[in-house]
Amino acid sequence: MIQAITTNQIRKIVGDQMISNFEAVLIQHVIIDSRSMVQAEQTLFVALIGAKFDGHDFIPELYELGVKCFLVKKGYKEPNGLSGKLDLIFAEDTRVGLQLLATFERDLFQSPVISITGSNGKTIIKEWLGQVLAQKYAVAKSPKSYNSQVGVPLSVFGISPYHQVAILEAGISKVGEMEILQKIIKPDIGIFTNIGTAHEDGFSSIAEKLREKALLFEDSKYVIYRKEHDQISEYLESAFEGENLISWSDQPGADYTLTIKKDAEKTKILLIKPDMGMFTFQVPFSDVASLENIRHVIIASLTLGMQAKDIQAGINHLKAVDMRLTLKSGYNETLIIDDTYNNDLAGLRLALDFMAAQRPKNRKVVFLSDFMQVGQPGEVYQEVAQLLKHYGIDLLIGVGETIQVLEGELPCQTLFYQNTEDLLAELQEDHFDNDLILVTGARIYGFERIVNKLQQRIHGTTLEINLNALTHNYNFYKTKVLPQTKIMVMVKAFAYGGGATEIANHLQQLRADYLAVAYTDEGVALREEGITLPVMVLNPAQESFHLLKKHDLEPVVYSPLFYRQLGKYCRTHQFSMKIHLDLDTGMHRLGFDQQQLGELKELVEMFPELIVTSLYTHLVGADEAVHEDFSLQQLELFSQMCELVSEYLDHKPLRHALNSAGIIRYPDYQFDMVRLGIGLYGVEVNGIFDQKLRPISSLKTTISQIKHLGAGESVGYSRKGQMGKNGKIATIAIGYADGYDRRFSNGKGFVLIHGKKAPIIGNVCMDMCMVDVSEIDTKEGDEVLIYGPGISLKELATNIGTIPYELLTNISSRVKRVYYLD
Ligand SMILES: *Cc1c(COP(=O)(O)O)cnc(C)c1O
Repeated sequence: MIQAITTNQIRKIVGDQMISNFEAVLIQHVIIDSRSMVQAEQTLFVALIGAKFDGHDFIPELYELGVKCFLVKKGYKEPNGLSGKLDLIFAEDTRVGLQLLATFERDLFQSPVISITGSNGKTIIKEWLGQVLAQKYAVAKSPKSYNSQVGVPLSVFGISPYHQVAILEAGISKVGEMEILQKIIKPDIGIFTNIGTAHEDGFSSIAEKLREKALLFEDSKYVIYRKEHDQISEYLESAFEGENLISWSDQPGADYTLTIKKDAEKTKILLIKPDMGMFTFQVPFSDVASLENIRHVIIASLTLGMQAKDIQAGINHLKAVDMRLTLKSGYNETLIIDDTYNNDLAGLRLALDFMAAQRPKNRKVVFLSDFMQVGQPGEVYQEVAQLLKHYGIDLLIGVGETIQVLEGELPCQTLFYQNTEDLLAELQEDHFDNDLILVTGARIYGFERIVNKLQQRIHGTTLEINLNALTHNYNFYKTKVLPQTKIMVMVKAFAYGGGATEIANHLQQLRADYLAVAYTDEGVALREEGITLPVMVLNPAQESFHLLKKHDLEPVVYSPLFYRQLGKYCRTHQFSMKIHLDLDTGMHRLGFDQQQLGELKELVEMFPELIVTSLYTHLVGADEAVHEDFSLQQLELFSQMCELVSEYLDHKPLRHALNSAGIIRYPDYQFDMVRLGIGLYGVEVNGIFDQKLRPISSLKTTISQIKHLGAGESVGYSRKGQMGKNGKIATIAIGYADGYDRRFSNGKGFVLIHGKKAPIIGNVCMDMCMVDVSEIDTKEGDEVLIYGPGISLKELATNIGTIPYELLTNISSRVKRVYYLD
């Protein structure tokens, strides 16, 4: 929520022209995405233009939702019917307008602003610093990693007048960007985390990158950095005044010394201050990166005037795990959004947004704890109430003292408990049936106990799906096709193992154009879960014709016989149906070949009930350069066949040919739509853009037991595993019945434990297998990564003579799928 401002003031700040149909509207919210709208009346929508979208297209939709003020590009003309109904403020460039507005709002904020830049650690430091400072101050911080040219302005709009400190991240990817961010953020205190040595496209050298990033601190009172980072120290010490710099180091010689002492149980950090005051912090982690990040947090908190003991109290409450929203299956068909470590408004808004994006369920239930933020509780809860109303929550279960002010303030049912124990004593799984449940609260309330109670037992092995990575991959392919090219996403085979419903739902949020499944029942399942996108069914069986109509699914028709059968069926039942024609240009699997086009013509005329909605073909070797000639031949033949077929249709059907590999290799043949499959799931089969995609899933299990074995002892069935020397093995809870291929036996496969490779020893068993952990420091119960970041699926597949598709789709349905946003 921003400091209220009138549309007229906004015009003065961002533009020169305005069409006004209302008396000076007071704006309190600025949004760039229709989905984040809370109070339409007081909202300004900024229509940004991106490479692949145009915010102006959403104006009618927003108008329907009640928004009436818009920041638009000069020359924008409202669509018919809306003229005279909107307030339009014009800007040359709406993004610049957004930034100017942010700058104005930033200047209204009088309390300290802390900003963080550097190559790594920005988001973690921001989160931790926020949590530590929250011991004493009302903190605003950028949500997620909103650190870009658009993200920073949005973060600024998240600062409310009652906040006492704001933390904003700044990320840049090329020269010139920081100057803009600096003007918006104007940090009082800066943290320069580190500088990567990797070459980045937007910078000609490390020196340039350093200079650019340091621009952020031009007007800062203090800049915090670690002395050991030579390049940063040298640069800052030459370019800034000494009185503005605050350095820290492991060793004496910097303003603050922060030395690490590790013992078996705990890690301690010994602080020596410039005035020689000392303090010992205890921290709950021991890895190098976390220890560096937390020391930045300590120094920044001291700089802001916090006492060491208060900082320690904050550290005690740090979340040990990454903060992420996770979707879990609960009892009685409930779906649980686990956000148990969140306790700020920006986080609550994200969680409610995520909730709104889920498929429809019975009720929307929110478990919410007191907000620990100091400041004006009244204002905080007012915003909470607004959010809960806006998102149509049916039941609020509040835990704590202050949250009880919401009693009677909400149009929904409310229940309040003094503490989590009281709640747990009454909580039963059967209180909920097919509900959507958000569990979100401050760490000290221990809300993970609520999730544990409501969640179905998860056995050792889980497949975690990162929906943000999925979005990333989807957007990557979107940039590879023309703006008008539609995208059909293949969610057949349980969305390549990832779980069709949740992934389809996410794609619906991303506004994909079409989905495709292999069989009718897969389509029916999507419809029953509330998926409304058009769905093409690749291989519908005759017995399922009635389901196609009932669930509005669109079958592929691939042969004259099938055309006749479906045509007769529709005629008998007197309805029409959209169909898609598979044209065989070389796959020789299903489809009409050239010789059958004459017959097809007769069929089209005979059965007007069947509406030919699209024509497609499938490439046989899109991922391999050796097949380039053949692929081009297929694509040309497809063009010709389309022309022939179109001649006897009275409308223009969509044409599509490219799969994931084809999108990359044959951009000239996008036709009207492309069919995205494996690329969405993180595998770039061409090997050209491997680095651009993110793995979307992690298959994880745990170590059940560890055994020390001597040289010459054997492991597993048929004594296939042999210990070459003394060592130890771990038995892990995954086997071929879970989809872990038996061909990984005897060293053909490996897993990662604490980031280290552990090869499979012996044969993979049905429900478990053994790995050699002789060289790894590990214990029973530790996590094991089977597939995921750090493991190349392509390499693993090659090792056992198969393809990544098979590894992904083989993951058994008994493995629980868990979804999250990172
Ligand atoms: C599976 C499938 C695709 C997607 O292929 P990917 O290689 O996974 O991109 C496209 N078209 C058809 C007809 C398919 O069956």
